[in-house]
Amino acid sequence: MTRFFNTFTRRKEEFVPLQKGFVRLYSCGPTTYFYAHIGNYRAYCFADLLRRYLEWKGFKTLHVMNITDVDDKTIRESSKAGKSLKDYTEVYNQAFFADLHTLNIVPAHYYPKATEHVDDMLTIIQELIAHNKAYKSEDGSVYFKIDSFKDYGKLSGLKMADLQAGASGRVKKDEYSKESASDFVLWKAYSPEDGDVFWETRVGKGRPGWHIECSAMSTRYLGYSFDIHTGGVDLIFPHHENEIAQSEGASKKKFVNYWLHNEHLLVDGKKMSKSLGNFYTLRDLLSKGFDPLAVRYALIATHYRSQLNFTFDVVHAAEKTLSGLQDFLSHLKDDAVVAGKEKDGQIAAALARQLEKTKADFTAALDDDLDVANALASVFELQHAVNKALDEKAVSRVLATKIAAFFWNDFNSIFGVLKKQAAEKVPVEVQKLVEEREAARKSKDFKKSDALREQIKALGYAVDDTEKGARVKKA
Ligand SMILES: [Zn+2]
Repeated sequence: MTRFFNTFTRRKEEFVPLQKGFVRLYSCGPTTYFYAHIGNYRAYCFADLLRRYLEWKGFKTLHVMNITDVDDKTIRESSKAGKSLKDYTEVYNQAFFADLHTLNIVPAHYYPKATEHVDDMLTIIQELIAHNKAYKSEDGSVYFKIDSFKDYGKLSGLKMADLQAGASGRVKKDEYSKESASDFVLWKAYSPEDGDVFWETRVGKGRPGWHIECSAMSTRYLGYSFDIHTGGVDLIFPHHENEIAQSEGASKKKFVNYWLHNEHLLVDGKKMSKSLGNFYTLRDLLSKGFDPLAVRYALIATHYRSQLNFTFDVVHAAEKTLSGLQDFLSHLKDDAVVAGKEKDGQIAAALARQLEKTKADFTAALDDDLDVANALASVFELQHAVNKALDEKAVSRVLATKIAAFFWNDFNSIFGVLKKQAAEKVPVEVQKLVEEREAARKSKDFKKSDALREQIKALGYAVDDTEKGARVKKA
């Protein structure tokens, strides 16, 4: 049974999708005014982990992630750069897709852009006006009337009574705090600082507010009601609160059944900020030589509801963990390591039992609100035990294949951190050189053996001399 912590109810709940075997999932995506930073990628990697888990459990998924290519920030930055909004955001849209690929994130089924869904937004806005939940102000902007929606605040835990006493008026900015909770903008009437960013529409000349974008794009692709909505905790208020008000205000149907939010990412124990010099995009990390899959691992190996303190040491440790796993998996394929038939039947039987237990523990941990810490603990325990048995030549080919299958089909389907290993055989030509070199080494002709190593290298392979003989792998 799958259970997720639902922000809406503040407890773990059994996950039951609206439609049996099919999960509709929406994730708030990037605002493409700059390269996404690693805090953003924590959220996108979390959504990816969730999606991969659901599919591994046998659910079909429909995953949508929006791209906010028009809002206060994109307009401000494109005008600063003296570029059109489209030209300016397109650079960062493309960079975002490249980063997703680098991080081995399974692409969402749709990445709708806000600028291409203005009509869907207008439909909701008109619906809200018709239901008396939105109104036009003097300047022609349209606002959502929060006191017309009795459930306003139900996701973030805001109390309407406090709100009415404390706050009144309107907020036209896309981002604001709980303290300034008040009627929020759905449609912003044109003002000169918008430059050439405007739409002439049935509710007037202007542009959409940020919050309405996600209501419109989620409804367009997933319907009025869907299963899971993800995002960072910083989006709970006001963004997700407003999405609920807009969508439910217009459709009169429950918008989302499960709200899953990932916690903040800190860098060196502090909130990431450009002024502190601890602000990193993925590109910044790659330029320092980090392996992108280690970055991915570092982002997902801490439970999504815990704060993640990101440091270079964490990524270095992730690199070590992953190279240990890669070596382990290549040993499992290596006939020099795996016995044709195990020497010790008892060790082999115990390992076979441990493999079954690992599968069960791994599944149970992930079923429990994606408890990655326990899932990984069971995986490493198995790796440790198998490594020991390999040293004793106690792992048969059959068992090695089963163990490898667990790592590739289960572990890696969900974590997505392993590099595919050359399934191809070492070419005969290379194998011959390796054997010649072995012979040279045995006869202590090190000059020849070094020369042969160079020849092997020139063919794109590397030889490691181990206690158990030479091992050759792609360089
Ligand atoms: Zn959103």
